Order: sequence, then C-alpha cells, then structure tokens
Amino acid sequence: MLINLSPIINGRYDKETFEDTFNLNVEHGKRVGALHVSPIACKGEIEIMGERLYVTCHYEANFTFNCDRCLKEVKLHIEDDFKTKLITTDEEESYDGYVVETEALDIVELVSDELLTHIPFQIVCDEDCQGLCATCGKNLNEDECNCDDANIDPRFEVLKDLFSE
Ligand SMILES: [Zn+2]
Ligand SMILES: [Zn+2]
Repeated sequence: MLINLSPIINGRYDKETFEDTFNLNVEHGKRVGALHVSPIACKGEIEIMGERLYVTCHYEANFTFNCDRCLKEVKLHIEDDFKTKLITTDEEESYDGYVVETEALDIVELVSDELLTHIPFQIVCDEDCQGLCATCGKNLNEDECNCDDANIDPRFEVLKDLFSE
C-alpha cells in the first residue's frame, strides 16, 4: 500500500490515517524464517510536526516457527507500536529515521522491516527444552537415550551448532 505524502508535505492536510492487511513478500518471508505467517494487520497515521513527517503505527500478526532445539511447532503472536521519522535521501541525518525516496510511502515495506526487528533471535518451545540428541536424533523431552554425551566427536558439535541456526 502506497500513501501519497504530497498533500501533507504541501500542507493540505496535517494528518493522514491508514489501515491495511497484507502478506509478507517472499524476501521478507525468507528473512523471518517461519513455517507460516498470517496476514499482517496494521493501522496508523502520518502527521507533520514542524517540518517533519512522523509515522505512528500499530501492527500484529501470528507466526508458526519450529523450535530451534527440538523442531516442535511453536506459535507466536507479535504485536507492537512504533513511531518513526520520515526523511528524504538528500538529508544528512539519514540514519535517524525511515528513508523515503519519493513522495509516496510504502507502508508494507515499512511495517515488514519493523516486524523483522521483533522476531526473537532464538525461538524455543520451552526455556527448558532439551532438544534432540545430536547422536541419535531422539527428542530428549520425550525420552532419554543411551548415547553418551561425552563421546560426541567435537566435529559433530560444530554440525549441531550449524543445524540450530
Ligand atoms: Zn523444543
Ligand atoms: Zn541419543
């Protein structure tokens, strides 16, 4: 969803509200890395304060991930509010806000980027999840196995780390 910023910049309105529901695009979807993502609902407004444009927005969505340790499905609801300053690319302080290259703001892109910063670094079904045995693959939450942890070749430890990413 594109929002034309010209009427606000030109002073015709001092506020513009928006509401949208959209699906993550393929690129954002890959970066989220979930099994399933619901449509993302967002609602907010753009207003001018002084010479500056600000976006305030609320968004929410539901996700299904695999537990990083045991692969069980984990459902997660992410919901947040944010406020950000809009800046044009010819401004010097371009790292202190959201860069808009034209007079149209892409709400989908803005909310998708914001959402990515709220995906937890590690997703586990339970803080105490025991994960899968690195040797036999058994789910250690359900049962113990007979593998002796002390015998794990350090090279497999490295592989285990790779798989948990
Ligand atoms: Zn787990
Ligand atoms: Zn085992």
